[in-house]
Amino acid sequence: MSLRLGKKIIKPPKKEHYDVLIIGAGPAGFSAAVYASRFLLKTAIVSEEVGGQLNLTNVVDDYPATLSIKASELVSRFRQHAEKLFNVPVYEYITVKGFNKDNSEKYHVIGTNGLDVYTKTIIMAVGSRRRKLNVPGEKEFTGKGVSYCSICDAPLYKGKKSVIVVGGGDAALEGSLLLSDYVNTVYLVHRRDQFRAKPFYVKRVLEKKNIELLYNTIVTEIRGKGLVKSAIIENKVTRERREIPIDGIFIEIGFEPPKEWYKSLGLEIDEDGYIRVDDWMRTNIPGVFAAGDATSKWKGFRQIVTAAASGSIAAYSAYTYLTEKGLLEG
Ligand code: NAP
Repeated sequence: MSLRLGKKIIKPPKKEHYDVLIIGAGPAGFSAAVYASRFLLKTAIVSEEVGGQLNLTNVVDDYPATLSIKASELVSRFRQHAEKLFNVPVYEYITVKGFNKDNSEKYHVIGTNGLDVYTKTIIMAVGSRRRKLNVPGEKEFTGKGVSYCSICDAPLYKGKKSVIVVGGGDAALEGSLLLSDYVNTVYLVHRRDQFRAKPFYVKRVLEKKNIELLYNTIVTEIRGKGLVKSAIIENKVTRERREIPIDGIFIEIGFEPPKEWYKSLGLEIDEDGYIRVDDWMRTNIPGVFAAGDATSKWKGFRQIVTAAASGSIAAYSAYTYLTEKGLLEG
């Protein structure tokens, strides 16, 4: 949120018309923008923030051809590629409220900060939202010791005694590794006795002396006074409960889609609430496509490379749709 302070919000021109409007500025959205431009479609990106989940990542070493790269640098390159090389405008700090089809085969899209534009096609590349633990104290201490992003906040805990990281996926393990460089003890609290994170992270976590693994364990309450001071944890097998003193707690338990919003837009969702797409990233609404983490595709394997790939396919499908419907000028 603080990023918005002092930043000039550049709005898309009112009543502007596009061939494709991309909602979301992560790898899926930027990749869609590059490809849409290559198909000579008039394209714009609107997004709440630039970078998506990459903003929650430290270093990326599995995106082909970039070797090992800071996630922030990769975001900057994604943006430059779309904005500078292909002249796609990127409008930030905009929350899309909804879209309706008018009589002319165009969608009227409205949102915050005066968003009011028309587009023949839409690509939903909106990512997903952080999942909450929903335990007492979580809301009260958010930003006061409760964090949802180890990568963003780890340096703030330099020299502190102990923190909890909750989760068993890549984010929790990557976050634990980072935090273990700053604090004396990291308690990695996972509800099962098997990690779903990549073996690469599991191996490194097991090697770290100051990461204490608490398997089959859940956090039932976060306590503090002004700031987080402790958490109540419970072993699900033995039912043993104990209070451990901590300076912070990092909740890294994945993402969940804004399914009510999708439903309100008329988008069909799958059993987990993600936008249902076919192999060509088409949704149930003609002219509306989706890409990346927002979709029902590859749910167990959300990667930058898969998001980018799906963005390119969505752009191709938008182009095909426009061509087949005779909606392109010239
Ligand atoms: P994730 O893979 O969905 O893992 C979420 C973890 O949180 C799981 O271990 C899950 O437990 C646990 N969990 C879920 N709900 C919980 C609850 N209510 N209480 C306690 N624990 C709960 O999420 P993620 O780690 O954020 O990763 C998301 C995607 O981003 C993945 O595709 C991942 O590969 C990718 N990612 C990649 C990198 C990287 O490669 N550098 C870094 C970060 C993220 P169960 O295992 O029991 O379900």
